[in-house]
Amino acid sequence: MDARALAALAANPGCHRRALLDAAGVDKRAVAERLGAPAPFGRSQFAFARGHSFESGVTAEGGAALIRLLCRQTGEEQPEPGSVRVPELTAAGPAARAGRTALELRAAAAAGGWSLLDHPMLSLPVAGAAVHLEPDALAVHPDGSVTVVEIKSFPILDGSADAAKVGAAARQAAVYALALEDLAEVREGALLVCPEDFSNSPTAAPLDLRKQCAATRRQLARLTRIEEIAELVPAGAGFAPSRSEGELAEAVASVPAAYAPECLSTCELAFHCRSKARAAGAVEALGRSVRGELGGLRTVEEVLKAARSEQEPADDPAAAALRRAARLRDAALAEAACR
Ligand code: SF4
Repeated sequence: MDARALAALAANPGCHRRALLDAAGVDKRAVAERLGAPAPFGRSQFAFARGHSFESGVTAEGGAALIRLLCRQTGEEQPEPGSVRVPELTAAGPAARAGRTALELRAAAAAGGWSLLDHPMLSLPVAGAAVHLEPDALAVHPDGSVTVVEIKSFPILDGSADAAKVGAAARQAAVYALALEDLAEVREGALLVCPEDFSNSPTAAPLDLRKQCAATRRQLARLTRIEEIAELVPAGAGFAPSRSEGELAEAVASVPAAYAPECLSTCELAFHCRSKARAAGAVEALGRSVRGELGGLRTVEEVLKAARSEQEPADDPAAAALRRAARLRDAALAEAACR
């Protein structure tokens, strides 16, 4: 799992399907393709290469450009050229890298001055399992506090950027901030670094993490333990895309999903889950707010039955509102027909 997956999971904590497939490292895109419902999702190779080259430029030369952008945001004095510490973080395996990152964070705080941790590794317990996360960078300030740095390849045009992309970046940064909580004093604002206008030169904007951290912490705490979800999968079932379409569909169907239209922008299985939700007439497919308004009515069939019911519902405000709406609709249609 990466921070992007965790942030998406935190936005839909009721989806056991995504929780299990992500925890097992299943290639959801390949599964969706095998099930005949590929989603046009993710970045193209070109966009990936462009993003990688931009990020390398930002952290080059000891991260001088990045620390300069951060100082401009915070008003701190810029360090002397060449004085930013950039510790070596390589180690064998994610757990060892996370341990090395923790050591270097402590050493950086003790040393004073600026330090830049380029692609460190953090660990966050999620639903009973340790998840390793790799932020783009962490900047350690002279006072020992830490700023999470998110480097993205979408542009900031005339000082503003795509709100949905900025929101996704803030959710990812919040996941890193939560993973850092036990290791360092984390600043409430992250630094978003993007290309300026249509150039390749970097510019930065602050990301306020307070609300995102609180929401993400709450949602991650609601995730069911992965072992409990795994018990739902029948013995012998599996999620390898090499399995037959029927076997794969059966395995996927054995784990409950919580489809919502938001899945279309966050999950590779969205088209598959949407078609299943529609086929089942699930009101979730209409959106979370509609689902909330409908109270105990779970399917479109139940909704239509309630709307057309001859009897006044005893104590169901959703059913009463549906009957009223149906009557108003009928009256409006009758009036239009008479004109
Ligand atoms: S698309 Fe399906 S698997 Fe993905 S989050 Fe939505 S309901 Fe869960």
